[in-house]
Amino acid sequence: MARVFVGSGDITENNVTIKGPQARHLRLVLRLQPGDTFRAVDETAREHTVRISHASTELVRGTVIESHEVDTEPRCRVTILQAVVKGGNMALVIQKCTELGAAQIVPMLTERVVVRLKEAKADTRCERWQRIAFEAARQCGRTVVPEVGPPVPFRQALELAGQRDMALILAEHGPARALDQVIKPGLKVGSLALLVGPEGGFSAQELELALQAGLLAVSLGPRILRTETAAIAATAICFYALGEMGKP
Ligand code: SAH
Repeated sequence: MARVFVGSGDITENNVTIKGPQARHLRLVLRLQPGDTFRAVDETAREHTVRISHASTELVRGTVIESHEVDTEPRCRVTILQAVVKGGNMALVIQKCTELGAAQIVPMLTERVVVRLKEAKADTRCERWQRIAFEAARQCGRTVVPEVGPPVPFRQALELAGQRDMALILAEHGPARALDQVIKPGLKVGSLALLVGPEGGFSAQELELALQAGLLAVSLGPRILRTETAAIAATAICFYALGEMGKP
């Protein structure tokens, strides 16, 4: 069933009002009409089934016919620090990591990042990334939209990672521990950071800095994965080990 996010002001008593892009989405993309139902997820993780009484591209109104709590958020806050990569791969990482349950995605500028983010374009790109996270969260039934911040320099990324209970840097070369030796099933951490390098990988100096900052270098095996594959695979593996995937 169609799903939208609502704020506290959008529901009064049992009346729901959806405006802006989400109204357009319901009316134009999903073609919902009076009498149809959709789900509205509020900020307190309650999901309301709403029957539509009025639908236009600017405004959808309806009445709540049923409400219940939803519990789709992982216990562990996972932050993906992803080096900015080309084309649609940033979008792919954001979309898939949102579906898997990431709490935060931080684009990162490293030595070998080849994408130039011109000032003006950087803003629109950032908005686009946030929209991708919003839409992925809505589609997959999450109750929280992951934060997608503006790109940060590598050193700032290391500081951020250092504030998490555990911080890992994915390293395809050099000394690294096997991921399954670090993230073991049953592991209990409240927050986890994962750093993923760009197409050209991290530089030796960056790896060194990360190790000095207390991050653990981990390997995903002998095959070199594309950066987007590495990010998505590592996120899935971590959530699985943390007991967040595989249960109904
Ligand atoms: N330029 C490198 C490949 C970089 S892959 C080369 O051709 O040798 C891009 C990023 O994905 C890496 O920086 C790393 O963070 C991650 N990655 C890819 N394969 C990996 C693996 N087997 N183990 C750990 N990380 C990996």
